[in-house]
Amino acid sequence: AKHDGRNCWRLYHPAMEEQIVQRRELENELRVAIHANQLQLVYQPRYDVRTGKVTTIEALIRWQHPRLGLLTPDQFIPLAEDTGLIFQMSDWVLTTACQDAVEHFGSLSVAVNISAIEFRVSGFVSRIHHVLTTSGLSPSQLEIEISENTALSDPERVTDIMLSLKSIGVRFLIDDFGAGYASLSYLHAFPFDGIKLDKSFVIPTDTSENARRVVENIVGLGKAFSLHITAEGVETKEQQTYFESLDCDALQGYFIGRPVSLGELKQHLSRQTAS
Ligand code: C2E
Ligand code: CA
Ligand code: CA
Ligand code: CA
Repeated sequence: AKHDGRNCWRLYHPAMEEQIVQRRELENELRVAIHANQLQLVYQPRYDVRTGKVTTIEALIRWQHPRLGLLTPDQFIPLAEDTGLIFQMSDWVLTTACQDAVEHFGSLSVAVNISAIEFRVSGFVSRIHHVLTTSGLSPSQLEIEISENTALSDPERVTDIMLSLKSIGVRFLIDDFGAGYASLSYLHAFPFDGIKLDKSFVIPTDTSENARRVVENIVGLGKAFSLHITAEGVETKEQQTYFESLDCDALQGYFIGRPVSLGELKQHLSRQTAS
């Protein structure tokens, strides 16, 4: 009876089949989206505590979906990772971000989020070389953020990749630091230049003494490893003051600046240059 047809099968597994169909549909749409100009980048400033200026711009992807509207990365990055589409998507992100940086960011650096999965196959170093050459961006203006939430496997190989790119000036940051279980082992295993404190620790510091204790330990850990430390998710004046008092190197978050379109970012930057 199960094979009598679609309707009958549906009777047994309605929710599951529905999900599979939707997922396949979204996968096909994502394949198209990369070529159909539906992907966009928004840009969020990172502010340097010592100079009081924006020094880096982080690129964050969005998908302007024809049917579902504007999608955030959480809604399609996992799918892109599972299907391997992440490579094409990431090439688009790198190319666009580096071109925008050359054309509009002056001497500022640009930070791009790269999935740990992209280190599992060969070719990462040449992909980066290619995008640097074609855009003309100086390697010392490129930062690569890798979230701690997905495991970096094969430490020796990944270390070689990182060292090769670091030798030309590219910097590497651990994103979402503290949120996963890998924090300490990552500091030992990989030659990272900096950490970005996960916003889930940053936001509660306003109200929770415990949160502050945890944060102070993480910042101490970063300093013990001589790492550049960014607090992300800074949403209030109090948080800004607090993280500056901890001697963090950089701040990022809605209080400093929301992720905005390239056009809006250019306006903000021209104001900074003017002041
Ligand atoms: P992330 O790299 O940790 O980026 C920070 C996220 O927090 C962004 O969400 C940003 O919009 C948001 N955010 C920034 N400031 C604040 C704040 O003050 N408060 C709060 N509550 N949130 C803030 P978004 O853009 O939805 O990105 C989510 C994640 O998706 C990113 O987290 C990153 O891991 C991933 N992602 C984004 N763009 C790309 C990409 O091009 N490639 C890959 N592989 N992953 C990406
Ligand atoms: Ca990031
Ligand atoms: Ca993060
Ligand atoms: Ca994140």
